[in-house]
Amino acid sequence: MLCLVPVKAKRAMPKTIRGTVVTQRRRCGKANCRCANEGSLHESVVLSYSEHSRTRVVMLPPEEVEAVRAATGRYRAAKKCLEEEANAGLAQLISRLRQR
Ligand SMILES: [Zn+2]
Repeated sequence: MLCLVPVKAKRAMPKTIRGTVVTQRRRCGKANCRCANEGSLHESVVLSYSEHSRTRVVMLPPEEVEAVRAATGRYRAAKKCLEEEANAGLAQLISRLRQR
């Protein structure tokens, strides 16, 4: 079957990703595990994001963590930039309409 998106492009890290990379520490729930008592909890690095007003997480393989973190950083920067631009646009429109 012909695939329209080249495999390489599918595997490439997107430029921006919405969400936050966080480290979760939790108990696995197994009664005989070290984490059940005073032992250390399980750590996993996840991408936390909201979807339909719910917070969801997706586990990140260690080798993907830094690239995903960078992409979420680019998203935050781009979002901040767009917001500033749109706020300036709003202020400009309001001031022009008030002068009439
Ligand atoms: Zn455990």
